[in-house]
Amino acid sequence: MQRLYEKVGAVHIHTVFSDGSGHYDQVIQDATDAGLEFLLFSDHWTLKPKQQGREGFHNGILVGIGCELNDSKGRNHLLAFQIDEEIKAGIDPLEYTKKVVEMGGWAVVAHPDERRDALPEFPAYPWTTWDSEDFQAMEIWNHLSEWMERLTNRNKYWLYINPRRSVITPTEWTLKTWDRLNLKRRVVGLGGVDAHAHHYSIWRNVNASIFPYKIAFRSIHMHVLFDEPPEEGNDDAALTQLFQTLRQGRAFVANRYVGQARGFRFWAEGVEDSKIYQMGDRLPAVSQLTFHVNLPPDVTHAVLLKDSQQICHWKDAEGSFRSIGSGVYRVEARRRRRAFIFSNPIVIEP
Ligand SMILES: [Zn+2]
Ligand SMILES: [Zn+2]
Repeated sequence: MQRLYEKVGAVHIHTVFSDGSGHYDQVIQDATDAGLEFLLFSDHWTLKPKQQGREGFHNGILVGIGCELNDSKGRNHLLAFQIDEEIKAGIDPLEYTKKVVEMGGWAVVAHPDERRDALPEFPAYPWTTWDSEDFQAMEIWNHLSEWMERLTNRNKYWLYINPRRSVITPTEWTLKTWDRLNLKRRVVGLGGVDAHAHHYSIWRNVNASIFPYKIAFRSIHMHVLFDEPPEEGNDDAALTQLFQTLRQGRAFVANRYVGQARGFRFWAEGVEDSKIYQMGDRLPAVSQLTFHVNLPPDVTHAVLLKDSQQICHWKDAEGSFRSIGSGVYRVEARRRRRAFIFSNPIVIEP
């Protein structure tokens, strides 16, 4: 097994620069307390915190700053990282997605299939621009969306008190869409916390903060696997390295509330040449691979999927399986009945 350096962080965070309630320093402190090693902020429409020089290491935690865009109907949310210039509102999602990529940025579709049946006062903001071929990643799991989706007038007090209990699983629809996209091109899967610590008036005149940052930072995490650990002391190099590794898809999503996912690994080895491939890698159709997993102790079982179909089931700490032709291969691990870990895929192209 290739030695990799694992860093754990949270993605998709709002602050007082848009509609979040937290101040940067406090949010960073909360993330540090939760044991996180990087944070990606994305306030609506603004890059002001980046322009103020807030990117880089803050007491050991690496901070990257992008922004979140949307269309005139409030839909098609896109996280834009690694851009320096703000994008003006009023253009359609096809255009702003293209623009982000042209500017050298990393375009991430946010909460693609948000649904909200129970509470009409909070409409859903799904992604509908699937004809775009420019976005490079998508959220496969979003804490806030799922929390809101499960909210009904009957359970809202319970969910308010138990915010992490609402995060159960990404939707089937999202996962299948993600697999389908990956047959054609690399679309990296991310888990977003979408932390706002909103002050909603959840029942009559009571204003309450919906799951504070502290809580959000103990749910959906991104685990990124580096060849070399990003070094403190060179902010720009470390950020470039973080985004490069994320863009490659060398990362997995895990729910910290369910267990400790550190140490999870999914990789493949060429049958002929013993070459090692990592999550995010794409190979030509003739390739024959042996897939391998290492499962941390909190995992009770894991499955290997090919094009959304389960093809192998593992219960032990280590497992392997020989590829069966072209397809999008990825791993889902569970702890008892709870969704826990979602790897990025290794793809044998059609
Ligand atoms: Zn959004
Ligand atoms: Zn957001």
